[in-house]
Amino acid sequence: MITIEQADRLKQLPPYLFAELDRKKAEARSRGVDVIDLGVGDPDLPTPDNIINKLAEAAREPRYHRYPSYTGMNEFRKAVSRWYKKRAGVELEPIQQVVSLIGSKEGIAHIPLAFINPGDVVLVPSPAYPVYAIATMFAGGIPYEMPLLKENGFLPDLDLIPQKMLDKAKLIFLNYPNNPTAALATRDFFKTVVDFAEKYNIMVCHDFAYSEMAFDSYVPSSFLETPGAMDVGIEFHSLSKTYNMTGWRIGWAAGNSKIIGGLGRIKSNIDSGIFEAIQVAGIEALEGDQQCLREMQDIYTERRDVLVAGLKKLGIKVEPPKATFYVWFEVPTGYNSASFAALLLEKSGIVATPGNGFGAPGEGYVRMALTVSKERIAEAVDRMAKAGF
Ligand SMILES: *Cc1c(COP(=O)(O)O)cnc(C)c1O
Repeated sequence: MITIEQADRLKQLPPYLFAELDRKKAEARSRGVDVIDLGVGDPDLPTPDNIINKLAEAAREPRYHRYPSYTGMNEFRKAVSRWYKKRAGVELEPIQQVVSLIGSKEGIAHIPLAFINPGDVVLVPSPAYPVYAIATMFAGGIPYEMPLLKENGFLPDLDLIPQKMLDKAKLIFLNYPNNPTAALATRDFFKTVVDFAEKYNIMVCHDFAYSEMAFDSYVPSSFLETPGAMDVGIEFHSLSKTYNMTGWRIGWAAGNSKIIGGLGRIKSNIDSGIFEAIQVAGIEALEGDQQCLREMQDIYTERRDVLVAGLKKLGIKVEPPKATFYVWFEVPTGYNSASFAALLLEKSGIVATPGNGFGAPGEGYVRMALTVSKERIAEAVDRMAKAGF
């Protein structure tokens, strides 16, 4: 017998705040409750056919069966550069300024290993996608949480970061359109971020996962469009949300060549790249027929409208999000995030994500994901009305 003890980096992980809800969800299902799960941020729609067909074709080609290049096929990185040119007017040198990723989560999780020494500070938003803070901790860094508050449109107030933190800060994570708040960044905000980064010598990592999941003719801007952005930062992106490809594991980081180079060096010592047949399918996603995008946007718009109208009818204050597939709203008075989510499940068989699970400033909110059909969303709203919400 040996003693098996986890490393300190695992012991220091924050408690998993969704554990209780996961347990209750499993228990409700085992009791036979028809659970409507608005908790998961994973598209329910299938990957478009043209992309699947391209994978099937490429999978039969022996030249794609070998170890891929660490940093990504040149053809894939060129397609990413063309996408940036077309979508954002940004010129990228595909070899130096683009690295492919096994999903953007992989790159987000690895980047602190390239730049953060023990004791360095990383500025992370809160509430947020949990990987920014955890990846920082795994590298020995100290996450400094910037609260995202309603009164600031869920943008961080950079002026409130203490000088002591700024002195030690090396990197800032941002994410717009935002998960979980659905907030948007303005070009002016991004300009402020570039000035801030230059003034305090801080690298910017912008997570652009929801760039195409936008409605009502709103077009999110890339951070890299901002004058000076290429000198200070990179952008993470992925095919996951845009093309319903979360299971395929393909994304990229693009921008400043020194930052991309550092990330690439870490990766070449840890993983061996993305199956090339998937990269070939990724090129098809970016450059094939884009009809699927408009269809996806129409479907989420309809679902959003059903949910927002239904919640408003119940007297809940909620704004229709202009991007992402999340509806983020304040729980009614008398509840907190956890008690409201627990009651939703208990009384109506609906799963929503408590906002405090994304960080303390998310307390008082819940997030509902538009990842079930509009009929199911209508039923969810119906059940809430019947349960007296
Ligand atoms: C879904 C999501 C990702 C991860 O996407 P992958 O490319 O599938 O790893 C990254 N950031 C945010 C904010 C997300 O919601």
